[in-house]
Amino acid sequence: MDIEIKDVCKVFRTDSVQTQALNNVSLKVKDGEFVAIMGPSGCGKSTLLNILGLLDNPTSGEYLLDGEEVGHLKESQRTEWRKGRIGFIFQSFNLIEEMNVRDNIMLPLNNLKLSRDEKNRRVDDAMKRMGISHRANHYPSQLSGGQQQRVAIARAIVGKPGLILADEPTGNLDSRNGVEVMDLLTELHRDGATIVMVTHSQKDAGCADYIINLFDGRIVENLADRM
Ligand code: ADP
Ligand code: MG
Repeated sequence: MDIEIKDVCKVFRTDSVQTQALNNVSLKVKDGEFVAIMGPSGCGKSTLLNILGLLDNPTSGEYLLDGEEVGHLKESQRTEWRKGRIGFIFQSFNLIEEMNVRDNIMLPLNNLKLSRDEKNRRVDDAMKRMGISHRANHYPSQLSGGQQQRVAIARAIVGKPGLILADEPTGNLDSRNGVEVMDLLTELHRDGATIVMVTHSQKDAGCADYIINLFDGRIVENLADRM
């Protein structure tokens, strides 16, 4: 999926405080590219990823997805747009505790016009790919962090999205699980997905085609100069 944002600003207002989380960010990601976003805590990485994932709107600026302006959609329209097209991997996994692994992964398919058989087949495929088939009936609290992250990734890819967004996907994992998660993302990239990943790890960022450095809400050339 082709991504283009132009002069995007995001301002958060809470009571008396105003935070400019993004300041004139412009960025192009071509279909099939794997991009890593790096930068210090609080510089706007998650804000940018949430906007790219249609979880939030920019305050101003444009967002084109495959040439279509999507930066100012209503929440219900954003939800509709995301379905089957964008998979989001959250840092904190965001699994539903009351649902077992199978039902968590099924969630993005619930409103898609697919037969029951096709939905089950897709969930089975996603679980197999992530190596968690044997945990299908387990609940999130019964899983290790690495397994929970695999469920979160299975849920992100089950709709076969063209765009995968990942917010620090290895941030809550030990190094072995982190390496496995990066191998999975690399494989999804090889299969043609466009991927934008926020990371703190220079090693993880090495899996990407290129790195975008964010500092204080702006894209900067060289982060090392700022630190
Ligand atoms: P990062 O992911 O790089 O650590 P964030 O994008 O989460 O940074 O946050 C960027 C800035 O915006 C921070 O100053 C943060 O406190 C602020 N911010 C993020 N989300 C909100 C929100 N929903 N309401 C108010 N301020 C927010
Ligand atoms: Mg963040």
